[in-house]
Amino acid sequence: MKVIETVREMQETADLLRREKRIGFVPTMGYLHEGHLALVRKARELADVVVASIFVNPIQFGPTEDLAKYPRDLARDMKLLEHEKTDILFYPDYRQMYPDGYTTYIQVRGLEDYLCGQTRKGHFVGVATVVAKLFNMVKPHVAVFGQKDYQQLAIIERMVRDLNMDVQIIPYPTVREKDGLAMSSRNTYLSPAEREKALLIYASIKRLQELFKHRERNAITLKEEARRILNSENGVAIEYVSISDPETLAEVDSVKERAVYAVAVRIGKTRLIDNALLEEE
Ligand code: AMP
Repeated sequence: MKVIETVREMQETADLLRREKRIGFVPTMGYLHEGHLALVRKARELADVVVASIFVNPIQFGPTEDLAKYPRDLARDMKLLEHEKTDILFYPDYRQMYPDGYTTYIQVRGLEDYLCGQTRKGHFVGVATVVAKLFNMVKPHVAVFGQKDYQQLAIIERMVRDLNMDVQIIPYPTVREKDGLAMSSRNTYLSPAEREKALLIYASIKRLQELFKHRERNAITLKEEARRILNSENGVAIEYVSISDPETLAEVDSVKERAVYAVAVRIGKTRLIDNALLEEE
């Protein structure tokens, strides 16, 4: 695996590769788990050359968020990526991404107002900006993103469409632990007792899917049931539960064919998100 640390080398390499190969791209913030690696495998399936990036993007973290303590382990990440036969790891530092005088930001209006956007002000501007920059550096034909971050995926799809970016966005289903907990680099913050409580998130997903299957379409009823499950143990602070339109992310009163159940909770100091599509079979 080739490791590239500068924007110039990444762009020159991408230019050469693009002449005869399809480039697949998986952007990450590192501390990789099986969810990330599944995206790498998907990219390998769809492209000739796979580029993964690791960059913990400061501008998508709020002032009280976990930027400083975000988990990092480059040596381990490199081993995992090598094992997946990743061709290139792009590992730029802050100065490469945001040199002195940096002042351009991308805002995907509307979509950023809902769900996580309500509490994480500016987060999705940070995400859209860094992803657009990474696309300009890696020049991928396809890029794979996890549905685990549903709103992020929707925002990137919209940005690509609105700005005519020449890259195909491939969504990938959420990879879960055996007991249903969605894999996340942030799971490492959880104590064993907290991890146990975190399983209520998946329990709420399963329950809402079951209710939906039995024709419950009232969003208020569905959300009440989700809250009841999440509140069934102390220590799970709900940030939001939402039943939203899968495209606009606007809250719906009743579900027509499909909706997204999205949830954010805090357990101790850890913020966890998850979601699932509710749709007719
Ligand atoms: P992150 O390193 O958290 O920024 O995530 C990098 C990419 O991996 C994003 O596209 C995420 O949506 C995706 N991802 C994170 N966790 C999972 C998961 N459990 N299953 C599938 N994709 C994931």
